[in-house]
Amino acid sequence: MFKINENYLYLNDSYLFSKIANKVEQFKFTNPGADLIRLGIGDVTLPLPSSVIKAIHTSAEEMGSRETFKGYGPDQGYSFLRDKIVEIDYLRRGVEISPDEIFISDGSKSDTGNISDILGEDNVVAITNPVYPVYLDTTIMRIGPSNKILLLECEENNGFLPQLPEGQVDIVYLCYPNNPTGTVMTKTELKRWVDWALENESLILFDAAYEAYIQDENIPKSIYEIENAKQCAIEFRSFSKNAGFTGLRCSYTVVPKLLKTRLTNGSEISLNNLWNRRQSTKFNGTPYIVQRAAEATYTTEGQIEVRELVSYYMKNANIIRNGLINKGWIVFGGENSPYVWMKCPKGLNSWDFFDHLLNKCHIVGTPGVGFGSKGQGYFRLTAFNSLEKTIEAVERITTY
Ligand code: PLP
Repeated sequence: MFKINENYLYLNDSYLFSKIANKVEQFKFTNPGADLIRLGIGDVTLPLPSSVIKAIHTSAEEMGSRETFKGYGPDQGYSFLRDKIVEIDYLRRGVEISPDEIFISDGSKSDTGNISDILGEDNVVAITNPVYPVYLDTTIMRIGPSNKILLLECEENNGFLPQLPEGQVDIVYLCYPNNPTGTVMTKTELKRWVDWALENESLILFDAAYEAYIQDENIPKSIYEIENAKQCAIEFRSFSKNAGFTGLRCSYTVVPKLLKTRLTNGSEISLNNLWNRRQSTKFNGTPYIVQRAAEATYTTEGQIEVRELVSYYMKNANIIRNGLINKGWIVFGGENSPYVWMKCPKGLNSWDFFDHLLNKCHIVGTPGVGFGSKGQGYFRLTAFNSLEKTIEAVERITTY
């Protein structure tokens, strides 16, 4: 009889958002007409920038003409997009990345999950707790409920930042600005991780999906702003949260050519070649139209529009953060991130506070425990609703 990958049986049910949906449905049934405000979603709500829409129209027209039609594209993505990434996302911040170190993809979710295809099963993998669940679930899918998965406990007294692991760790997932805690790492903090990785010959998988939200010039947007990080880190970037591409789908992954490891026979191997092989075998590319749309975010008009999108959400984040602080609550994030992470008041656990906010203030947020056991007693609010609704929500919370 054929077999399945039984590692899937060890995954936690992804009950978080369905449990939230059930509770909300129940609430709507018993409170018809209540004006619910959702600050739980991690999805953007503003429409795509007009420069992006224009590029979609133009490139759709190209696809309709025999002369300009495009079929399969280059494996790593079109150079018109990779060149812009090199210039604007990296060179302008003093980081030299070459276009063939960039792989255009359809989302950081896919790439942060698929990267384990090129990594061995014997690695000890460190993952923060709480965490964006994709890293943990895709690791379990690959290696099972193994004692090779080490959880890096993030707690309030450490500002929800992980400590360097004590024993041998081969791979670590880091995500900054962080989902769900909204925390960031300073250059000094990130350098400690890079130095640790170089010393231990470990690999850092750095998810920078929220880099556009960094307001503080001293916070690194890319791990490659840290010296020698190209020898130990892969970086994931997305157009989802800066330019509203959650439905359009475009991202990129940087695999530096300096990033190498040794085979069991002692010879060196480049991860750039391996990832290239993986992508060209299993992925046929991001649509031409979508790559043109992403390119438009790098035009002068596009850059202004992207900045406006981000500032809109950051204004909301500030309103939430300040409102909660004024109420005397303990708050993390929201300064360089669209996520505000708060300690539930009066010692409530995450779900009790969820029920309280839903029933008393008619607000939906996300219980922190849904992101891992260390999220118990904490709660995530997001800046992705409208300004008006965000103001109203904070008023409700603060006046209750
Ligand atoms: N990485 C983090 C930390 C996220 O929170 C998300 C989405 O919420 C993603 C990646 C997914 O990004 P994409 O839309 O590019 O797949």
